[in-house]
Amino acid sequence: MSLADSPNGDVSMASETSKVPANSLTDTMPCILRKAKDHSSSTYSLHFLAEGAANVVFSIRQSSGSDTPFEFKTTKSSSNSDKKLPLGHVLRVSKGLAKTPSCPEIKKDYDEKVTELLQYAHLEDCGMPLQLTKLDSEVVAHLNQEIKSHSRRKVQILDRKETRYGLLMQDMSPVAGESITIEIKPKWLAQSPNAPEGLASYRCRTCALQAHKSKEARAKRGQNDPHGKKRKRKSKESSTEATHDRNLAAIDATYVCPLLLAQGDAHFVRPFVHRKVREAADSLSKPLDPAAESRLVEALTEYLCTGRGHTVLQALRQYQADYDATGILARPEWLDLAKDAKKRLEELEKQRSSASTSSRAKNEASEKEYEETKREAGCVERFDNNLRLAMTLRDCSIFIRANYAGAGEVKCEGKIGDLDFKSVQKIPDWSDKEEELRNGLYYRGAHSAGGGDRDYKEDCAIAIEWRKNRPRWW
Ligand SMILES: [Zn+2]
Repeated sequence: MSLADSPNGDVSMASETSKVPANSLTDTMPCILRKAKDHSSSTYSLHFLAEGAANVVFSIRQSSGSDTPFEFKTTKSSSNSDKKLPLGHVLRVSKGLAKTPSCPEIKKDYDEKVTELLQYAHLEDCGMPLQLTKLDSEVVAHLNQEIKSHSRRKVQILDRKETRYGLLMQDMSPVAGESITIEIKPKWLAQSPNAPEGLASYRCRTCALQAHKSKEARAKRGQNDPHGKKRKRKSKESSTEATHDRNLAAIDATYVCPLLLAQGDAHFVRPFVHRKVREAADSLSKPLDPAAESRLVEALTEYLCTGRGHTVLQALRQYQADYDATGILARPEWLDLAKDAKKRLEELEKQRSSASTSSRAKNEASEKEYEETKREAGCVERFDNNLRLAMTLRDCSIFIRANYAGAGEVKCEGKIGDLDFKSVQKIPDWSDKEEELRNGLYYRGAHSAGGGDRDYKEDCAIAIEWRKNRPRWW
């Protein structure tokens, strides 16, 4: 799920919750959510909390007063404490759009692929386990009403029997007066394998995409503004106006180059964290005092530069690079390789079917060739699977809740969310985007917000490195 369109995301779980400890999810969790007749100690109300392009997140509270009460029907015998489990969690529901996985698929992929990866990286404590729950049609109708009243996008949940599912996951919302939550979308933490090599690149993959979005936004503004051309000419003449233009072009004020974030350089991470804390503080019911703000900025900077958050970023960077070592644009070569291998495999299988089992066992060389060809024939499936995993890791979010209550140390708790395994149907879109960034010279530094291309000093790790090693001929 992408809770924000911007590369580094925004605070999606900013609304505060009452202080409810999150319990671990178990098999005894309730599995059908339905409308209840009346309020009781085990009925809940559901409220719009946040949304991404494909999903909507609802908070779960104890129901009372004018709330519509809902209850979880269990299929296994549950103790009284189990009935309290939904508190401390949120309900995530898929809108059922094309090319996006359903809730049961997300749950299956998470359990089969993501859990294993987190264990392998020793990041189990940073995972957000998912619990599947069925929703009855009255619940879907209520959720759609919530979307109608509070959503900016107003995209409703499709009410079909096969889409009536939701996922329960840990609520990372802040607690009023005690904590704040920031959301970071780390994106591409290593350069794209398809970027131009060496000094030919001036931007990393995410900064190149940011430049692309920025150019589109400027073009759109020009279309809407009949005096756009005149202003553009003027902006070249006046440095004040040029700065103004750059500021206008900044799509996301809380953007930071992902490579700089992964490097853990506090010089770049601290201002980024400060903007994130300010953004999170804006949605708090109680204003943050300057001392608390400063403690939060320092603690979160440390968490991301040297603490557990840095370990998470390093692991994500490593896996993104390992699972996509050649890049999407190398896929046609893998397709050719697999096509040739499949032809050879057919031949080898014909030969094998005519040979006896004993003679096959004796001919070790041809058996080895057969196994290798079989492996080669399946290379595209492996390539696609690995690429989908890398792209999943490039689109995840890190939710960090920082507790600043009391005078002691600020405690940061980070969770990796939005780890929905990407659909195979997205592959053509990824390929088109990569071609667009390469052919549009976005990697090479064209279309900068300042208009001067490489003369405009961008805060991208690749650009900083380029300026250090600027070629003599430049
Ligand atoms: Zn960058």
